[in-house]
Amino acid sequence: MPHTQATATDLMAAYAEAHPRSRAAFERANLALPGGLTHDVRALVPFLPYITRAEGSRKWDLDGHEYIDYAMGHGALILGHAHPAIVDAVRRQVGIGTHYGANHLLEIEWAERIRAMVPGAELVRFTSSGTEATLLALRIARAATGRSKLLKFQGHFHGWHDAVAPGQAPPWDALPQGIPAAVARETIVLPANAAAVEAALDQDPDIAAVIVEPSGASFGTVALSHGFLRDLRRLTTARGAYLIFDEVITGFRWAPGGVQETSGVTADLVTMAKILAGGLPGGAVAGRRDLLEPLGLPGSNRRKIQHPGTFNANPLSASAGIACLDLIRDGRAQAKCADTAAALRRAYNQTLASAGVHGAAYGESSGIHLAFDPQITPGDPASVAKLSVDTLKQQRGLTWSAPLTVAMLMRGVHLFGLGGFVSVAHGDEDVARTADAFDQSVRQLADLFPR
Ligand code: PMP
Repeated sequence: MPHTQATATDLMAAYAEAHPRSRAAFERANLALPGGLTHDVRALVPFLPYITRAEGSRKWDLDGHEYIDYAMGHGALILGHAHPAIVDAVRRQVGIGTHYGANHLLEIEWAERIRAMVPGAELVRFTSSGTEATLLALRIARAATGRSKLLKFQGHFHGWHDAVAPGQAPPWDALPQGIPAAVARETIVLPANAAAVEAALDQDPDIAAVIVEPSGASFGTVALSHGFLRDLRRLTTARGAYLIFDEVITGFRWAPGGVQETSGVTADLVTMAKILAGGLPGGAVAGRRDLLEPLGLPGSNRRKIQHPGTFNANPLSASAGIACLDLIRDGRAQAKCADTAAALRRAYNQTLASAGVHGAAYGESSGIHLAFDPQITPGDPASVAKLSVDTLKQQRGLTWSAPLTVAMLMRGVHLFGLGGFVSVAHGDEDVARTADAFDQSVRQLADLFPR
C-alpha cells in the first residue's frame, strides 16, 4: 500500500477504535436512518461521533471525548452551546406553553427586534426553517410580479425545496434527483457575474427574482464582492425583478444587520434562520411592506398569498430568538467572533506556509474555510481567488477532506465542512488548542495534500 493511503487507513482504524460507543450507535443508526444520518453534511467516513452534551465552545461524545466545536449548530449558535440567557428563556417558556394556536406577544417582540436590526425589514413573516423562508420569499416575488422564474447562482445554497435545488453543486446544469424537469426549467443557474445576469434579465422577461447568498456561495466559500451586490441591486430594479438576499447564515453574524448592513445594499426581501431563533428551529422573511402585505389579506381576497405553517413563530423559538438577538444587537459579539476567526485563520495559514502545503484558510466575519489545491500558495488566502467555483465547491469530496476531519477529531476538534463557525464562547485557549491540533494533523497527513 502506498505510504499516503496507509496513513489514512491507519488513522481511520485508530479513530474507530477510540470511538467504540459511537461506532455501535452508528451501526444501530444504519438500521433506522438512511445512511445512518439525518443531514447530508454529517456524512463522514467512518462516522461522526455521537454527542451527548454541549456547553460553550465544547461538546462531549458517548465515548467521553471532548471537542472544540466549529459546527456550532450549522451556524445557529453564535452565543455558543447552552448559553445561560437562552436556557433560561426556553426553560421559562416550555412550562407555560409551546403552542397556543393563537396570537402571542413573543411573536410581536421577535418581529420588532428584526425590524430594529435588519435594514429594509418593514414587515416580517416567520417560518420554521431557512428552506421555508426562501420558498416563501420566492412565492412572494412571483405573486408580486406575475412572473415565474428564479435566477440563482452556481454553488449558492438556499435550502432543499425544488426551486432552489438546481445549481447547488457541479455539474451546474444537472437535474437533481426527484426534481421535475418542468420545475427545474423555472430556475436559471448562472455564474456570479453581472454581465451574465444582465443578459439573462434582458432575454427573459419572466424572471421574478434574483436570489443570492450575499457572502458568496456557502457563506463565502466562493467569495463575492459588494460591487456585485450593487450590480444586482441596479439590474433587478431596472428590469422589475425582485432581489432576495438569503441571509440564513450571514444574518445577525456578518453584522447585526447582516450583509445588507456591511454592503450598504438593501434587498427587497431578506431570508433569515439559524441565529434568528437562538439555536432553536425558526426562520423568517422580512422586507418591503408592499411585498409582504398580501400575506395578511383576508382569505377571500384574490391577491392573498397563502402561507400557513403549524410552527410559524412558535413560542419556544421566539423566546430563544429574542434572548439571542438582545445579546447581539450592538455588534460587539459579532466583532469578537470575527477576531477569533481571524486568529484561527492566521494560525492555520502559518502551519500551511511552514509545512509547504498548498492550502489556505480564508473567509469573512466568523466563517472559516480551508481549501487545498496546487494553485494555492501555501498559507496565502489571496491565492484562493485563482480557484474556480467548481474546485472550491468540491473540496469536501477530495481525498484529504475526510482524513483531515478525522485527524482533527482525534485531537479534540470538530471542523465543520473544512472550516466552520466561531461563537462568542470560543476563547484564546480554544484557538491555541485548535491551532496545535491543526499543525499536528497537517504534518501527519502532509503526503496526502496536493503538490
Ligand atoms: N439558505 C442558506 C444560505 C443556508 O445556509 C441554509 C442552511 N444551511 C438554508 C438556506 C436552509 O436553511 P434550513 O437548513 O434552516 O432549512
